[in-house]
Amino acid sequence: TKFEALGLQKSLLDAITDMGFETPSEVQEKAIPILLESETDLVALAQTGTGKTAAFGFPLIQKIDSNSRTTQGLILSPTRELCLQITKEMQAYSKYERNINVVAIYGGASITDQARQIKKGAQIIVATPGRMKDMISRRLVDISNIDYCVLDEADEMLNMGFMEDIKDILSGTPNEKSTWLFSATMPREVATIAKKFMHSPQEITV
Ligand code: AMP
Repeated sequence: TKFEALGLQKSLLDAITDMGFETPSEVQEKAIPILLESETDLVALAQTGTGKTAAFGFPLIQKIDSNSRTTQGLILSPTRELCLQITKEMQAYSKYERNINVVAIYGGASITDQARQIKKGAQIIVATPGRMKDMISRRLVDISNIDYCVLDEADEMLNMGFMEDIKDILSGTPNEKSTWLFSATMPREVATIAKKFMHSPQEITV
């Protein structure tokens, strides 16, 4: 299939077949090979509904070391609804990967329950910025060794006033990680985050 040509592994191709995806969307076609083949930072201008979750989700799952229980990937998203939706999709994508745990962290729900899930070992965390910052300051999560950070709907997160939280969260992550920023638009605040936290990102637009 065309998904195979993008370099995706068998477990993902099987999940893709189950989900009924037949051809990669434009953002998937552009982003997946770049993210699989290099450790580059990426800025992707893409609206919702373009298939961007899979564009970062497939490469992230493929790159995670499932033999390690440490948190390796962090996805930040603006709302609880989006956070839960991304988590559900990531769990569907990784259904044939026995050892990958994707955990959702968001406000308005029990922090104790979320901490308990993290403790079991979450290689991938999908989080809203406020609750994430709260859990970091209470030392309930450790993102000091992550390899990948995805900023999804970056313009929305900044519109909602999460600039300081995002800065604080990113400041506690390794400098050597890869950062993948997805945004529908590129206002000055998004450019500021990209400039401060990313290293010569490749850029794609769909
Ligand atoms: P997103 O933009 O990531 O929110 O995706 C929008 C919707 O399109 C979701 O319901 C996905 O499951 C679906 N989708 C993503 N990629 C594909 C694809 N290549 N073929 C068919 N549906 C897709």
